[in-house]
Amino acid sequence: MSTRKYYVYLNGPLDCEGLQKQLDDVFTIVTPEALEEHRSKIVAVCVNNPVNSELIQSLPSLKVISCISVGYDHVDVQTAAKLGIRVGHTPYVLDDATADIAMTLLLGSARRIIEGDKIARDPSTVSFPGNKFLGQEVSGSTIGIVGMGRIGSKIAKRASKGFDMKVVYHNRRQKSAEEEHTVCATYVPVLNELLQQCDFVVLAAPSTKETYRMMGREQFKAMKKTGIFINIARGALVDHDALMEALRDGEIAHAGLDVTDPEPLPRDHPLLTMTNITIVPHIGSATYTTRKKMVETAIGNIMAGVKGEPLLYEVPETKNA
Ligand code: NAP
Repeated sequence: MSTRKYYVYLNGPLDCEGLQKQLDDVFTIVTPEALEEHRSKIVAVCVNNPVNSELIQSLPSLKVISCISVGYDHVDVQTAAKLGIRVGHTPYVLDDATADIAMTLLLGSARRIIEGDKIARDPSTVSFPGNKFLGQEVSGSTIGIVGMGRIGSKIAKRASKGFDMKVVYHNRRQKSAEEEHTVCATYVPVLNELLQQCDFVVLAAPSTKETYRMMGREQFKAMKKTGIFINIARGALVDHDALMEALRDGEIAHAGLDVTDPEPLPRDHPLLTMTNITIVPHIGSATYTTRKKMVETAIGNIMAGVKGEPLLYEVPETKNA
């Protein structure tokens, strides 16, 4: 029997014909405009926008919520768990692309690529700045990864094997000696101690109650004045006012952000006026190859969820409920 009998609510456009086709080929996709008409038939929500308790409770046949992302902080997993609705996500397939963005921001920040591009294009440029425009050495420096999980490990591999960097990391729990050996990284149990040691600090931990604003005034002060801060995790981990002050007051040298809170930042946000920051619009996993794999995984989660089978990747909150 055709799987198109399954009505799946897609709560925001995919904005890419090829990706949309992947879903359209398999399910009957319901858009927000058609939600009222099909509400009672919807068995799955395919997520790229927030899913709140009200939406979950308003879908009587809902069995599974399938995020096209590894982070699921935008889904009310507590309500889903209470109602026996499974929540799936897409780990692993986006690790390389996201680690690449971390390295892109790190290299671009260290070597002042955005500023350099402006100088090279500026109509008033008649000579290049030479020794007045120096960046920071990446090779042989120290990187601190906060959140040495799937993505953090890929960043560590790139940093240690590709750039001879010394890698230290901070998690709640130390990894096994074998895992540490694989990623060539040393554990630092106290976050502020890691911050003091590093030339580069990269956030790669999930957005949780525990990690909310984990980088604040005290943490930016703990970093080296030449330190470069990169966030590819979630904006909620960072106090953006504190980051602004740190960049303005020379507490740190540069920041590179793929994520902010909110997204996008308000157009009059002071961070947008700083020259020592590079911000990109949450493009960590944004390659066609990776997004295609993410949609495939999201489809696999929906298929399993509607049939009552174990999801390919289920979030712990509903798996252990
Ligand atoms: P993961 O494999 O679960 O790794 C997360 C790591 O963070 C774990 O090693 C965990 O170790 C650590 N951690 C959790 N809570 C912590 C805390 N309070 N303090 C310090 N470390 C903590 O997740 P992942 O797949 O690598 O993804 C990480 C996050 O990246 C996602 O949750 C998502 O928000 C973000 N992300 C962003 C993009 C993007 O486009 N920018 C793309 C993909 C993912 P312990 O449990 O030992 O603490």
